Amino acid sequence: MNASKFRRFCFYPSPVALLAVGAGFSITYLLFFEQLENRWIIAAIGAIFTLLVALYLHITAIHSRYAADMIAASTSELLLSKQLLQSDKASRKFSELALQLRDRAIELSANAISIYDATDSHFPLSYSNPAFERMTGFRSAELVGKHCCLLHADELDTTGSQHLAMLMKEKRVGNVVLRSKKKDGSLYWSEMHIAPVENSSGVVSHFVAAQTDITALKLYEDQLQHRAHHDSLTGLANRVLLRAKLGTAIQAASRSNRSVWTLFLGLDRFKLINETLGHYAGDHVLKILAARLNSCISVTDTVSRFAGDEFVVLLQAPDDEKAAMDNLEIIMASIAQPIAMEEGNFFISCSVGISVFPKDGNDVDLLIRHADSAMHCAKESGPSSFNFYTPKQNLRALERTTMEADLHVALERQEFILHYQPQVDLSTGRIVGMEALIRWQHPEKGRISPIEFIGLAEETGLIVPIGTWVIRTACQQIKSWQRMGFVDLRISVNLSARQFSDVQLVSSIRAALSESGIDPRCFELELTESLVMADVERGITILRDLKGLGVSLAVDDFGTGYSSLAYLKRLPIDVLKIDRSFVNDITVDVDDAVIVASIISLAHNLRLSVVAEGVETDDQLTFLQVHGCDEIQGYHFSRPVSADEFTLLLKEKKALPSRDSRQDIVPVKLVAV
Ligand code: C2E
Ligand code: CA
Ligand code: CA
Repeated sequence: MNASKFRRFCFYPSPVALLAVGAGFSITYLLFFEQLENRWIIAAIGAIFTLLVALYLHITAIHSRYAADMIAASTSELLLSKQLLQSDKASRKFSELALQLRDRAIELSANAISIYDATDSHFPLSYSNPAFERMTGFRSAELVGKHCCLLHADELDTTGSQHLAMLMKEKRVGNVVLRSKKKDGSLYWSEMHIAPVENSSGVVSHFVAAQTDITALKLYEDQLQHRAHHDSLTGLANRVLLRAKLGTAIQAASRSNRSVWTLFLGLDRFKLINETLGHYAGDHVLKILAARLNSCISVTDTVSRFAGDEFVVLLQAPDDEKAAMDNLEIIMASIAQPIAMEEGNFFISCSVGISVFPKDGNDVDLLIRHADSAMHCAKESGPSSFNFYTPKQNLRALERTTMEADLHVALERQEFILHYQPQVDLSTGRIVGMEALIRWQHPEKGRISPIEFIGLAEETGLIVPIGTWVIRTACQQIKSWQRMGFVDLRISVNLSARQFSDVQLVSSIRAALSESGIDPRCFELELTESLVMADVERGITILRDLKGLGVSLAVDDFGTGYSSLAYLKRLPIDVLKIDRSFVNDITVDVDDAVIVASIISLAHNLRLSVVAEGVETDDQLTFLQVHGCDEIQGYHFSRPVSADEFTLLLKEKKALPSRDSRQDIVPVKLVAV
């Protein structure tokens, strides 16, 4: 009891004691006035008695007040402890509920959660949730106690498991990407967040890990990677991967003093397939060839699709030159195998350029560029050729690139001109027509022959606008000669593969004819057999459409291509132009003489008119005249000349002696081949 309480208890008079004092003194007072003997003694006793009673009552009151206070105090203490007990119970219940909730949350979590014992150096699994079971395919009971790193190990993914082992050893928080094996042996990728858990004394007792399955993401990533490094059509390595592989091969070869062969393959006449059979067929052919190339190389080598119809093969460290050459032979032979298509068997060949590390270059770009220019030189030697790089070729490749850039602007800058080579009727000896031949008047390089740029114009597609210009110019020129009075002239124009398959061809010729106002019979198109033969049915349809315009059609360079007279029967053509390679030798090579004579007679049977090209000598002319050739064209009569020079030829009526005037000529005796 504190002091103030004590004072309150002791000095605060109790009402009962006050009442007793009042009553005692009243009685004493009354007795005092009763005139009793010893009234003073009685009064004193009465007063003392009263005070004693009052004291007793006061003490009793103090005691009972103290007792009441004590009871009140213990009651409130009791109440307090009851309240505390109740709240403790509530909080215990709350913690239990929270724990249960946490357990449920872990159980139901979509993330795989696992807990590992940090006190054991192998960190065995002590708990895993159902998501972990679903992810791994193992039941929890099968996993508990298993070493953590074994659980997540995959022999191929050393980086992920090493990183995890390091985090656990250093007891650190971290993220790891792991490739692991499921119970069924299949692989899965997961991203794990792992954190150490300390006990109450601050010691790491466990690790808790949350994992998400990222297999789908990884597969998608892999697909993206694959797409970034492979050609979507053929599945072969693309340029990016080729460069990387060549880089690695160069490094390895320089360490071991070995060589790397870069083979640059260009398919011969592939554009023709694409343009005549369509892109779908072209793609089909490319896929077949890609598979063949793949089967020709060893696992250490690489085949890549470099561009449309160009492939690059890397032969890494071939044993010797002979081994590499054998490999090249196998590759070229496999490309040359027939390709079965709906339309029948197709044959394709390739030209190959070769550059060898280290002698032809020591970096990726150089080796590819050198192999590329070697391939272009191989192409010039004809189909199915191969060529080793020489420094001279590099210069040529550079020239090609600049020529390509110049060609793009040549038309716009009006750098092309047409020359005309007369065609002479052998029966009359007079000029009946001319072949229009293009020339490029280059501002710096001077006059460039079509042999140098027509191929490039074909490859780049520029031949289409250039060809349209040729057709329009030729039509206008013939009209201008007709206006001068030279009415019976015919003009021939060369058509290339790209132009032939151009859907605008017929309409652009129609437009040129109507623009110039010439009679379509004065206009002739020269095309080679291969243009038509690449897709006979489609070729015939185009020829019919062209014939529908009323123009005349000639087969150029006859004898150098398919030379199938059986097919010729089916083509709506009017003229056969015998290639100058036959004409060249008719007077010295009896075989050529027989061939030319046979062509003339067979063509006449098919009601075709025959023009012999490249007539350079009088003997050749005589032979052709004797064997009934209809017309000739060649240096013997005139080289191709400008329009003005041609006008002079017309004006001076330049002519050959007519057939009738040469009755004296005795035919050459031909021996059959
Ligand atoms: P081609 O159609 O066979 O043209 C005949 C070529 O033979 C011409 O060469 C001509 O100058 C040449 N020539 C003519 N007579 C003789 C001769 O007696 N002896 C010799 N050795 N050659 C003779 P050119 O003008 O250089 O044309 C070469 C090729 O370029 C042409 O061969 C043709 O395929 C192509 N070409 C020329 N102009 C055009 C054109 O406008 N369009 C297309 N697509 N190609 C063209
Ligand atoms: Ca021609
Ligand atoms: Ca020709």
